[in-house]
Amino acid sequence: MSDCLFCRIVRKEIPAEILHEDDEVLAFRDINPQAPVHFLVIPKKHLSSLAEVTATDERLLSRIVAAINAVAAKQGLGAGGFRVVTNVGREAGQTVPHLHFHVLGGRSFAWPPG
Ligand code: AMP
Ligand code: ZN
Repeated sequence: MSDCLFCRIVRKEIPAEILHEDDEVLAFRDINPQAPVHFLVIPKKHLSSLAEVTATDERLLSRIVAAINAVAAKQGLGAGGFRVVTNVGREAGQTVPHLHFHVLGGRSFAWPPG
């Protein structure tokens, strides 16, 4: 049993505003939103980042994508679009070592990212 921050959110030991939950995936609002809509989608299973994902996680990844799309639509991001980001490692700015996809929307975004 991992005591990483997001594993603790999965176990409801730390409160979060949950937007979607199923047996494998959890989506909750980011505590420090960078856009009008900013939520995180994570596997309940602990994987430290996208770099740890293997072919055995194929079904899990498709479940995550389904949750991203469903919650984005429910949050009204269908028309304007949205951005999905996952940071892998220190140089990318990953601060929580449990795989998570940021979903951001409700404003325009620049490219390239900083
Ligand atoms: P990253 O820097 O890509 O690892 O993203 C980690 C994200 O987790 C940041 O956007 C934080 O604001 C967010 N975060 C940290 N703690 C919590 C928490 N307790 N509940 C919700 N989001 C959190
Ligand atoms: Zn974890």
